[in-house]
Amino acid sequence: MNSPHFTSHQIGDFLVTALSDGNMSANLDLLSGIETADAGVIQHRCGITEPGNIHINCYLIRGRGRTLLVDTGTGGVNQVGGLLKGNLGAAGVTPDDVDTVLLTHGHPDHIGGLLDAEGRPIYKHAELYLHPLEAEYWRDDEKLKMASERVQGNFTRVRQTLDAYTQSLRFIDGNEIIEGILPVWLPGHTPGHTGFRIDSGDKSLLIWGDIVHFPHIQSAHPAVSIVFDCDPAQAEATRKKCLSQAVREKLLIAGMHLAPTGFAHILMAESGYRISYPEE
Ligand SMILES: [Zn+2]
Ligand SMILES: [Zn+2]
Repeated sequence: MNSPHFTSHQIGDFLVTALSDGNMSANLDLLSGIETADAGVIQHRCGITEPGNIHINCYLIRGRGRTLLVDTGTGGVNQVGGLLKGNLGAAGVTPDDVDTVLLTHGHPDHIGGLLDAEGRPIYKHAELYLHPLEAEYWRDDEKLKMASERVQGNFTRVRQTLDAYTQSLRFIDGNEIIEGILPVWLPGHTPGHTGFRIDSGDKSLLIWGDIVHFPHIQSAHPAVSIVFDCDPAQAEATRKKCLSQAVREKLLIAGMHLAPTGFAHILMAESGYRISYPEE
């Protein structure tokens, strides 16, 4: 079922397709817990030619008569990314076809695609799912006051977006979103950071959001965090848990900042773990 442009995996009734939103620059010096030079060596060794450039994925889930989108990319704000809409169309889906948008968290490279240039909802017929702690965090005036100017812009964006989607906003709890799609709370990167898991027979997929930004570096060194992590210690604990679970349960991993093919397995390595991208 793989189209020439997109990578898809069938998990039970659901066809999950990685859709690129493009790239964004994220310098290696945003990482802590590793020397920039050492991080560069890992990138180089893994064949990454632009070490300070990370990819943005979104995922389309189709099945059981439903069309779900997981995250929406940047929306092209500040000339970054914005390719999702075109790729969605190329996959045969219009924004009006999307009945559910699942958000991993509120960062601009995940929610930016929800509003058009006039601040109106693009996914007009979709229910929008978000973890309640995520909404609480971005609506917290004390947190806003303490944030840097750049991060304050993120608060404004989340608030505008949630306001525009008030009617269709649903909060994630421990229950399945729809039968077969289970939310998994993965806190640390942000307080309400959430993954989504689909299990069928011997196949299991975890869409893990922003567990890693630099897949090769942070799988080899799970203690390495990035400046965007709200709570680096919690993010590290969650990342370690996810990586060991991915190995133990042989999970297929989908992640918003994996390579453009969008899916990977996690293997044990001499030190830490190793990302393995399946041949398509
Ligand atoms: Zn993020
Ligand atoms: Zn991100």
